[in-house]
Amino acid sequence: MFVAIEGIDGVGKSTVISMLRRKLEESGYRVYTTAEPSQSPIGRLIRDWLLKPGSNVAHPSIFALLFTADRVQHYYGEVKPMLDSGYLVITERYMESTLAYQGAMGLQQEWLMELHRFVPKPDLTIILDAPVDIVISRLRSRRELEVFEVNREFLIKVREILLRRALMNNYPVVNANRDLGAVVDDVYGLIINALRR
Ligand code: C5P
Repeated sequence: MFVAIEGIDGVGKSTVISMLRRKLEESGYRVYTTAEPSQSPIGRLIRDWLLKPGSNVAHPSIFALLFTADRVQHYYGEVKPMLDSGYLVITERYMESTLAYQGAMGLQQEWLMELHRFVPKPDLTIILDAPVDIVISRLRSRRELEVFEVNREFLIKVREILLRRALMNNYPVVNANRDLGAVVDDVYGLIINALRR
């Protein structure tokens, strides 16, 4: 099974995924965790160029095109081989990140969906959610404040799109503004239920 964990910056995706992995492994599952931007050359280009502070990228479409190209490579080069070897694969960020982040940059949902024609869908998408002011205070304690304070309005838009799409597509939304253990338990429960279906 292929699971995508989505949510805005600072919501706790990485921490939840590493705790979740341990919990699933203790229950006997073979788990492979991965993240986007991926380790592919396109993922590296995204990190070294698009996401570098002060990088002067001309148009939001470049973000959409590169993130989606990285996704296709991530799926066929890394996710699918692990699924084929019998692993439960969990990715931090996948297509909902592009629909939300590049949507919030002003690109149309229809075009972003069209770009995903060659992107296989996850079996389960889970949205971790918390209010933007909460994540900003977490990011502040991680010293990522300078970048993110400026982006408060942007993160509000990203969150809106994620929640709208969750409603449209029946993605479960987990309240991440709680004790970490409770968040991990909920995500674990959703995955176990989906595995038993
Ligand atoms: O999850 P992580 O913090 O590693 O993501 C890197 C950054 O890439 C995020 O802070 C987010 O702002 C940005 N991003 C983006 N478009 C995406 C996915 C992530 O702009 N489709």
